[in-house]
This record gives sequence, C-alpha cells and structure tokens, in this order.
Amino acid sequence: MKQSFIRFSRPWMHYDRVRELPKPPETIPMGAEAVFWIPGDLSDLDADWLKVGDKVRTGQKLTLHPDAGGYALSSVTGRVQRIEKRMGDYGRSYVQVTVAVEPVDRWDEAFSAAADTPDLATIAEWLACAPGAPDVSVFMNAEQPIQRLVVNGVDQDLMIRTRNYTLQTEMASITEGIRILKEAAGLEEVVLVVPRDSLQNFGHIGAKPAAVASHYPAGHPHLIMKSVLGRVVPEGTTPEQFGVAFMGVEAVASVGKAFRKRRPPLQKTLTLVRKDEARLLVSTRLGTPIRHVFAAAGITVADRDRIIFGGPLTGSAMYSEDQPVLPDTDAIIVQDSAGVYRPSDNPCINCGECVRICPVNVPVNMLVRFLEAGQYEEAAEQYDLLSCIDCGLCSFVCASRIPIGQFIRLGKHELELIHSAEEEVHD
Ligand code: SF4
Ligand code: SF4
Repeated sequence: MKQSFIRFSRPWMHYDRVRELPKPPETIPMGAEAVFWIPGDLSDLDADWLKVGDKVRTGQKLTLHPDAGGYALSSVTGRVQRIEKRMGDYGRSYVQVTVAVEPVDRWDEAFSAAADTPDLATIAEWLACAPGAPDVSVFMNAEQPIQRLVVNGVDQDLMIRTRNYTLQTEMASITEGIRILKEAAGLEEVVLVVPRDSLQNFGHIGAKPAAVASHYPAGHPHLIMKSVLGRVVPEGTTPEQFGVAFMGVEAVASVGKAFRKRRPPLQKTLTLVRKDEARLLVSTRLGTPIRHVFAAAGITVADRDRIIFGGPLTGSAMYSEDQPVLPDTDAIIVQDSAGVYRPSDNPCINCGECVRICPVNVPVNMLVRFLEAGQYEEAAEQYDLLSCIDCGLCSFVCASRIPIGQFIRLGKHELELIHSAEEEVHD
C-alpha cells in the first residue's frame, strides 16, 4: 500500500505485476471423490432422473430434472455416491452431488454434437459452468441490446493471478472466443482490457486492446466504463443498460477452447495462497474438494484457521473443506488463526480513512452508521449505498475494524428482498 507523506491523498494498492511468463501451474490430480453443486433444492429433484448409483461421464450435464435450467458439468467419470442439500451465500440453495471417481475418463459426446452451432443458445446450455463461468444471458435480453463486449483481463482482487496467467498463455483460445462471441451476439466492438504494466503486442485478436492503471480496483467494470469508455455508470444502474457487457478473460478462453476441441473445458486455474502468504498457481478439475487441493499442496487447516474463496478484499469465508472448486473460484486463501483479522464492534471514530480510500466517493463513515442500525433504505437514499462497487477497501483501512464490507453486502441483499417483496405486492 502506498500513501503520500501528508496522507491527504488516496492510498494505492497494486495488482500483482507479472512481467515475465509465469511458471505453468502445478497440476493437482482429482482424488477419489468429485463434488458438484447444482442450483436448486432437493424438492426439485426428480428421483428417476438423477439418483445414487447412476453412472456419469466426463463432460456430462447434471440437472435436477429433464427441464431444469440450472446445471453442473461433471468433470469425471464415475458413479453417484451421495445427493445432499447445500446452502450457499445469502440462503441460496444447491443440491450437492458426490461422485466416486473412476480412473479412466469416458466422455459424454453430447456437447460435441452441439459444437457445430456456436450460437448463444449452445453456449448458455453447455458452457455456463466452464472455467470462468461464461454467462451469455446478458446478450439474450431483447429489451436491453448489447453492442460492446469488454473482455476483462484484470484480476478481480489483489494477490490473484488467474486472469493474468490466462492472458499470457491462452491467446489462441481467447482470440477464438472473441470471434465466436462477436458473431453469436452480433457485437459492434470487443475491447480487451489489461493492467497497464502487462500491455503487450496482442496482434490480431479481433479486439481493441486498452490498458487501465495497475492499482486496485481500476479493473472493476464501473471504473473501466469511466476510464476506458468515457461513460459514468450512475448509481443503481449497470453497464448493460448502456449496451456494454463484461466477461472475464478466462470465460472467453473457455468458449474458444470448447469449440476448438469440441469438449467443454473442465480444468480450472486458481491461485492458492498458503498460510505463509506464499502464492502458487494450481490447476485442478472443477469439482475437486478443496480438502484434496490442500492435501496435495501440503496445507494443513487447523481449528479456527480461515479459508477464503476469492481475494483478500472481496472474498468470502468458507466453513467446510468439502467445498468444491467452482467455475469462478479464482483464488483460495488459507490464513493461520493467529493472523486472522477479527472484526470488532468498536464505534466509528471518524478517522476518515474509509472516505479517503473509497474509489467512488461514498461517504462511508455515515453510511456505516445507518447500516449498523439496519436502516437500509435510508442508507441507499441518503448515503449512496448503491454507488458502492464492493471493492472492500474501506474495511481494510478501518481504524475501528468495523466489518464495513459485510455490512454493505448485507444491506444490498436486504434491499433486494425489500424491493422484490414490494414488487410482489404490486403484482
Ligand atoms: S466497498 Fe464500497 S464504500 Fe467501501 S471503499 Fe469500496 S466502493 Fe467505497
Ligand atoms: S475508517 Fe472506520 S473508524 Fe474511520 S471513519 Fe471509516 S468507519 Fe469510521
């Protein structure tokens, strides 16, 4: 973190700077069991469609019933061992399917048959759970046409190298992914955004390269909209409302790779941060339980140590080592209990650090008072709750160790519930 001597200017934190080609990730082979999370509830499960004892193939779609929209992609061949209920963040329901892994892959060929038509429907139907989680639903909304795609090559948080590595090693797949998405969605322009330090000669990739500052959170979509596209996204609106969609570079590479190889990619690259803060890039199949990742990397998790999915500023703590590697798991951090940041219930002392560091000028010191009091609508109306881009910097610098980021996330979630309840009443 850099701050000027007189401390009136904003402190800066830099993304990882990877100037030379990074070492290839260490490959962690799949263990005895693979775990997949399908969105939905156990009550949605058709017991004749998916049950314990069923055989699954590598690349096969797992759904709760024949017409279900949500799915997971099996990254292994094996037999279903257990089907259980799981709860994600903010009460989201999943059905967890555990598969006993067989040593030899037998591929499901259904995607291969669909790969002749690389359109949006095929991508949505087959690749939403590929590494990077390509989400093309934004291009399928006729009421909100998209003209421009921003391929984001900037990692989502500090200490993460997944996108940076993809950018440096997967250019053929990225180029193919850009071509497919451009044609399928009828886009006028694709922009590839990278941190200024890693701007290189990208050649003919079918996208206009653009660089953003290398300090966090310059790679956030709202800040890219302003610095690269010259458009401010007002409070409570999204880039899609201005005809711009964002997709991570790993997701675009997944699209390109899938159609080139006629198989959905199932290998996920992620940054593993050990207790001594050493970072290593690893590559493992989607659905690998993190317990297995830790064992292979020589990490022992003790009572009260903390496991974080995502980066240090925006990640979420996990409560179980049975958690699988998911399509959007770009980083896993393991913190020793001795170094774990413990939030407090100390009052705000108005030091102003949060206000100084906020990249979108939210009056955080006032906002947090309303959030602590559960006054979410007032927080949105008077103190810019919906302008917040969830960068997590205010929590990091808070002198009173108030978990501001968590209050903000909870506040936004509660507001959503309030608004959807109001819409239901109106309907
Ligand atoms: S999390 Fe929100 S309020 Fe806090 S610094 Fe980031 S943008 Fe500002
Ligand atoms: S950093 Fe924490 S203590 Fe300082 S003004 Fe912000 S909320 Fe208050």
